[in-house]
Amino acid sequence: MDPAATIERNEPILRIKGLCKTYRTGEVEVQALRGVDFEARAREFIVILGPSGSGKSTFLNIAGGLDSASAGEAWFMDHSLTRQSESELTRYRRDHVGFIFQFYNLVPSLTARENVKLVTEIAKRPMKPEEALAMVGLEDRMEHFPAQLSGGEQQRVAIARAIAKRPDVLLCDEPTGALDSKTGIKVLEALTRVNAETGATTLVITHNAAIAMIADRVVHFANGTIASEQRNASRKLPSEVSW
Ligand code: ADP
Repeated sequence: MDPAATIERNEPILRIKGLCKTYRTGEVEVQALRGVDFEARAREFIVILGPSGSGKSTFLNIAGGLDSASAGEAWFMDHSLTRQSESELTRYRRDHVGFIFQFYNLVPSLTARENVKLVTEIAKRPMKPEEALAMVGLEDRMEHFPAQLSGGEQQRVAIARAIAKRPDVLLCDEPTGALDSKTGIKVLEALTRVNAETGATTLVITHNAAIAMIADRVVHFANGTIASEQRNASRKLPSEVSW
């Protein structure tokens, strides 16, 4: 697959057509996705809104190669994600996708720098851990252990870890869900900076509709489909958004 450096601005990076996902637990079936059509272009910053249970995480997990679809198609550039083998999906996740979740999942016995280094040691064309940590404003916290960092700082270490491998796609599932508004803003500032500086196409799920204004585009999920979409004529900085 092509390295990020060759991806042109506005080139479709993710394309999704008629995506469906049904979960079966014993006799019970849940239709988590009911025909989602979606496209994300290189460098776009997209916010995904929608009520709990509307399918946002399921959608993000399939786009990131963490889960399989029941029907429909998904592509990363011209590589199908819905027809790939498990090992090809693993390679897609490893080489092209950065994940950020609500909880940071840092290794408690390793410093911020060492947590990021875990990823850079196995990546193909990584940043230096110091570079990734500086990009999220943690140049002064590199030798701290997770317990010595605030929640927002730990999330920024998790962002540095996700971007250090220079992913083409950055998928964030409620990255500010566990944070108060002040630290949440710092995390969103880190994400917007990373998006601008690395060009990674960025998808952010949030419950907080106010965050929508920091995006290029806002996608609203409802009942397993995309109910509406809007493009922001101008973007706000995270610090200009009131929660
Ligand atoms: P959201 O992220 O918008 O809250 P989800 O994608 O997590 O929505 O969930 C969509 C629906 O699919 C919900 O009804 C949820 O309970 C169901 N669901 C999600 N994951 C699973 C799973 N692993 N097994 C069974 N049902 C699931």
